[in-house]
Amino acid sequence: MDVRWEEAGWERLTGRSGRRRLPVWDCTVGLVVGDESVLLVDPGSCLREGAVLRGEAERLTGRRVTHIAFTHGHFDHVLGAAAFAGAEVYGAVGLDSLLSVGREALRLSAVHHGMAQEEAARAVELLVLPRHPVSGELTLELGGVQVLLANVGPGHTGHDLAVFVPGEREVVFCGDLVEESGEPQAGRDAVPARWPAALDRLLSLGGEDALYVPGHGAVVGADFVRAQRATLAARFGVSEA
Ligand SMILES: [Zn+2]
Repeated sequence: MDVRWEEAGWERLTGRSGRRRLPVWDCTVGLVVGDESVLLVDPGSCLREGAVLRGEAERLTGRRVTHIAFTHGHFDHVLGAAAFAGAEVYGAVGLDSLLSVGREALRLSAVHHGMAQEEAARAVELLVLPRHPVSGELTLELGGVQVLLANVGPGHTGHDLAVFVPGEREVVFCGDLVEESGEPQAGRDAVPARWPAALDRLLSLGGEDALYVPGHGAVVGADFVRAQRATLAARFGVSEA
């Protein structure tokens, strides 16, 4: 346990990584600390939250956030990005154009989920599009740690990106491909038939001993991800090859 991180509301996962569960929508954000660069996995659900996270990340790491990875394009995972001026933003290939044409849908979704009208409008107005598309896998050198961004979807959405952090224990930021605090949310943009295969890719990259960090809920192990895979396959009637 790291008192400084815990006091700030963060859960330290390994020597180089931690995560925080945000209030209201219980969305997880992750932090990976390199010797030169700092990666934030999802930047908070609105500008106010993004600004708070930026302050916390700077206090905890002594550096500014240089890289942001969007695990997918849902409002609670992307709308805080404008608080991180100058950060390089990564997303699954195609997410930039989806967000670009889908601003109004994003705003409506945020309001539908309880965000104040003005706050949602402002966040969408300042929406940051990912400039770095990831198809397949991409390695980010943060200094002393290389992080793997993997386009493991589609599944929860058409553009799901997972983040693998090596270390004394591997950490996998799963986005909403995995949820612990409730049933995985499958909206109209989900691709149920491909979701189990996305979880297979998560498991093959992370292995048995990794810490799997869901988009919502407590950190889980490979067994939980496997069980969720089976539940999803049954729920969506995906036949096993
Ligand atoms: Zn989602």
